[in-house]
Amino acid sequence: MAQRLFGTNGVRGVVNEEMTVQLAMDLGRAIGTRMEGRVAIGNDSRTSCDMLKSSVAAGLMSTGVEVLDLGLVPTPALQFYVQGHDVSGGVMITASHNPPEFNGIKCVDRDGTEMSRSKEEAIEETYFTRDFRERSWKEIGSIRKVSGAVTRYLSSISRLVDIESIRTSGMTVALDCANGAGAVSTPFLLESLGVRAITINCNPQGTFPGHPSEPTEDNLTDLIALVKNSSSDIGIAQDGDGDRTIFVDDLGHYVYGDRSLALIAESIVRERGGGIVVTPVSTSLMVEEVVVAAGGEVVYTMVGAPIVARKMREIGAVFGGEENGGLIFPELQYCRDGAMAAAKMLEIISKQGPLSQLVERLPQYHLEKRKVNCPNEHKERAMDMLCDRFKSEEIDLTDGAKMYVDEGWILIRPSGTEPIFRIMSEGKTKDHALKYADDFERQVKEIIAYLMSGSK
Ligand code: MG
Repeated sequence: MAQRLFGTNGVRGVVNEEMTVQLAMDLGRAIGTRMEGRVAIGNDSRTSCDMLKSSVAAGLMSTGVEVLDLGLVPTPALQFYVQGHDVSGGVMITASHNPPEFNGIKCVDRDGTEMSRSKEEAIEETYFTRDFRERSWKEIGSIRKVSGAVTRYLSSISRLVDIESIRTSGMTVALDCANGAGAVSTPFLLESLGVRAITINCNPQGTFPGHPSEPTEDNLTDLIALVKNSSSDIGIAQDGDGDRTIFVDDLGHYVYGDRSLALIAESIVRERGGGIVVTPVSTSLMVEEVVVAAGGEVVYTMVGAPIVARKMREIGAVFGGEENGGLIFPELQYCRDGAMAAAKMLEIISKQGPLSQLVERLPQYHLEKRKVNCPNEHKERAMDMLCDRFKSEEIDLTDGAKMYVDEGWILIRPSGTEPIFRIMSEGKTKDHALKYADDFERQVKEIIAYLMSGSK
């Protein structure tokens, strides 16, 4: 197998351990060799961003690329800039929701989408073979600072929602940007939408002093308290690079990402009088239930936001997203967009009423997750044997194997990075979800034990 550098979200590592200036510069040289022309670059708020961005930019310039430096921006703002300008692509310096000691380098394709695996492979090949394009002193590139990228990005978002409805609702909004890149854009979005905004952790600070930058319930205790104490209508939390948004309702309850996905999907399908919503096979049936009731349909893909985005474009979907708060609005761009998600949710509650009530009327499902150890060499055979056992049932092989059971489903996927299988099950009641997961876990373990005993 070819050596691999990019993971599912770019190249990531601990700064000055795996993620070094040397790696960043060589990756810049490889990206420049493959991209040519002009390349936009941006960064989140991590302490190592200046260092790594300078290294990537130096590498890019050595290949003759002109670097357009957007500065501190959310990832979707960089992607929006790339799709709207004559550039060959973009590079974002970010490790999204990882701890502050991490950083990463992520490539954006010419059309603003996350780079496809095949293009990443071409960059990896150049990186590992060190077959970099080298330019003479007369042909090397330069850096130009670009301002105003965030302003244009935000005004495009404002045009896509009913500002009048939001403005006249008199809403109070509590916002938590996790000291990340959303801090340079989302507070200004809220201002332009005319809501009363109360902010915490909206100063970009690379050590993430407020809380870790993953918007989990545990990390949002301050935001939840703020929503309650200020009687806010909604709490909005973004991850470190502002591509994902999670909400807290008016009663101070954390709203899980599958619920906000369902609410926004339902609203958009109703507005359009139908349409397709794209989401991975691991998404709750809650989404399909509300989308179908609203007159639309759901198309499932493999897990991964770039895969969802590509499928959306291919089939002309009206909306798509993942249960982690990564939502994709095709009228803006084909990538996860945290600011657009916030604006759309404000529009929805301004028209349809308190978020707590909207969440309350969603259909109830229960999800159960398990992990089962399995050596990598047995994964393929274990999957085959499992599918054999269930061959009388209908098996969906979009990603791993998914089987529909009475008002629920079971999904098993081999991890791409660890020697484990991930099992998920969903049912209308907790008992059902547990029963499906227990039964499946037992069968998977039986098969693995059989394979292991044979290999001794
Ligand atoms: Mg992110």
